[in-house]
Amino acid sequence: MAKKFYDCSNSYYDKLHSYVADDLTVGCPSCHKLLNRRLSYVAGSSAEKLTAEDGGFVKGVVTYMIMDDLEVKPMSTISSITVLNNFNVKEIGGLEEKLVPFGVEEGLMLLKASFECKNVLTTVFMA
Ligand SMILES: [Zn+2]
Repeated sequence: MAKKFYDCSNSYYDKLHSYVADDLTVGCPSCHKLLNRRLSYVAGSSAEKLTAEDGGFVKGVVTYMIMDDLEVKPMSTISSITVLNNFNVKEIGGLEEKLVPFGVEEGLMLLKASFECKNVLTTVFMA
């Protein structure tokens, strides 16, 4: 939901009333009238816009993990342990971190692989 902002109705005539509040209970420091003229918030970058509108697949700033079949899950310590259990990982030392390049080419390979198989990330990045 978009955030609402209010300013003093006298700000149109006089810069001394240029204040903004995020609720209707705040008075203008210049004239003490309630800041009650509704303003519309316009998001700057596309990233801010996504968060402001609560749109997109991942909401706000969260850590998440993407499974091999491209399923997106929120990440926590518990969920990480669950994943290790599900894959029957007994030796933590056997795990390996892998940084992968990601550009248009990889994006297209991911798209293609997602139509053809369930182990998308393995197909694209471990081949
Ligand atoms: Zn005012």
